[in-house]
Amino acid sequence: MIDYRSDTVTKPSPAMLEAMFSAKVGDDVFGEDPTINELENFTAEMFAMEAGLFCPSGTMTNQIAIKCHTQPGDEVVCDKLSHIYQYEGGGIAFNSGCSVNLIEGNRGRISAEQVLHCINADDVHKAATSMVSLENTSNRGGGSCYDFAEIVKIKEVCNQYNLKLHLDGARLFNAIVSKKETPKQYGEIFDSISICLSKGLGTPVGSLVLGNKDFIKKARRIRKVFGGGMRQAGYLAAAGLYALQNNVDRIAEDHHHSQMLATALGKKSFVDTILSVETNIIIFSVKNEMTPKLFIEKMKENDIYMYPISPTQVRIVVHLDISKEMIQKTIEVIEKM
Ligand SMILES: *Cc1c(COP(=O)(O)O)cnc(C)c1O
Repeated sequence: MIDYRSDTVTKPSPAMLEAMFSAKVGDDVFGEDPTINELENFTAEMFAMEAGLFCPSGTMTNQIAIKCHTQPGDEVVCDKLSHIYQYEGGGIAFNSGCSVNLIEGNRGRISAEQVLHCINADDVHKAATSMVSLENTSNRGGGSCYDFAEIVKIKEVCNQYNLKLHLDGARLFNAIVSKKETPKQYGEIFDSISICLSKGLGTPVGSLVLGNKDFIKKARRIRKVFGGGMRQAGYLAAAGLYALQNNVDRIAEDHHHSQMLATALGKKSFVDTILSVETNIIIFSVKNEMTPKLFIEKMKENDIYMYPISPTQVRIVVHLDISKEMIQKTIEVIEKM
């Protein structure tokens, strides 16, 4: 099976399993799991941020950050395609009682100027704008990356208007590897950063939220309220440590593989447009007699799985369980179509 439906489908490698088996664990609600403590410290240091908090999912880390940065009745600014708005079950309203101001960005990326224009006036009629959330890379934007200079400009607007700045970095390492950036650059700018260990980094479970000590203290309380306080989860944290130490640089391979697939697709007359490939996600539309459904069925006949993300578009996600041989086989299948 060649599975391009998502980068969440990866299974732990033998070396990762080995690290999990030999983890030292304790009760993390008591703060006594040494491996979780190590993972939180290791990641915070990597980003030069004060502290980190290990959580079961990226939805939880995002929702905790929103809850920490807002009061009910506040407004959150983000792109219309954002995961926090599209795919977290209405959590912004459900958990934090906030409204949203949705920006129509460029493939999931918003600009400082757009942020500036949607900050509400200090007026009793209006919701108080209290935070901005960015997503890098953008999932629905097809793995698009921010230009770091624009993030710096957004931060200046946030400083000027006293807004918190959160980063949904579910695939931040894809951006960092693709744009040759560093985690510390991000740590310097954002009030909170969420990263997923279970996407491109290949662990079975887990995300972290990073921030200053006061933020993490509050986040730890909210994690408990959300039901995310875990006990001997050091077995999972060990997978995270292994991934951060071994699986970051290799992401470049995934990006190379997605370029190869995009090149093969670009030669086919039934392929309409391919969103320029920046990382591990390829989104393309089909035309003539081809439909996403038909394309996906053809792939399935060859034991290749992809996901139709709209009535005209297919999404392919490359990840660490996709080998060079699998890419070759997929290209052969595409060429024969
Ligand atoms: C996957 C993802 C998340 C978190 O998803 P979980 O399945 O809850 O871990 C958050 N943001 C983006 C952009 C994602 O792709």
